[in-house]
Amino acid sequence: MEATDHLKASLLAAIELANVFGADHRQGRPAPAPDAAGVQGALRLTTNREVAAEPADYAAGGKLLYDALSSLPDVDRAAELVNTMLRENRAAPQLARDPGAPWHLHFGSPDAATGWLAEFATAVAMLLGSDQAERLRQCAAVRCDNVFLDATRNHTQRFCSTACQNRTKVAAHRARPSSARFGGA
Ligand SMILES: [Zn+2]
Repeated sequence: MEATDHLKASLLAAIELANVFGADHRQGRPAPAPDAAGVQGALRLTTNREVAAEPADYAAGGKLLYDALSSLPDVDRAAELVNTMLRENRAAPQLARDPGAPWHLHFGSPDAATGWLAEFATAVAMLLGSDQAERLRQCAAVRCDNVFLDATRNHTQRFCSTACQNRTKVAAHRARPSSARFGGA
């Protein structure tokens, strides 16, 4: 795994954690209350370790992450919030490795919630400090508050998922007056 791949994985995990704690609706449905499974689902995007995920340990950080990501395109505001997270979780680079895996750079201890929050804040900070910040945006579908990372080459993705894209398409189709109903022939 390249160093940048690891950081990208942490960025995706950060986005998922933010959505778990910050999104009221996800893909058309009310979001479930954040639980251990939700936190673990986010962590699994970046580590193979089994991490004991106590949701309470991630709640404040997860909400702050969501506030930061959903404040975009106001990069100034997002940067301020991410700086707070970096300070509060004492982000500091250190090499770590899982059994049998090569060393790679972490930005906090992988044994503590604060370590993961430091890692996620760093991943978001790297993106905010690049020319790619505009790739982070909010889903354009109704009843979906997810933030997502636009993965398309030309940066035109508007929805967090194909589910939201299809839902929006169907709704637009239904809203269109049908020719039959309005007296076609
Ligand atoms: Zn969506």
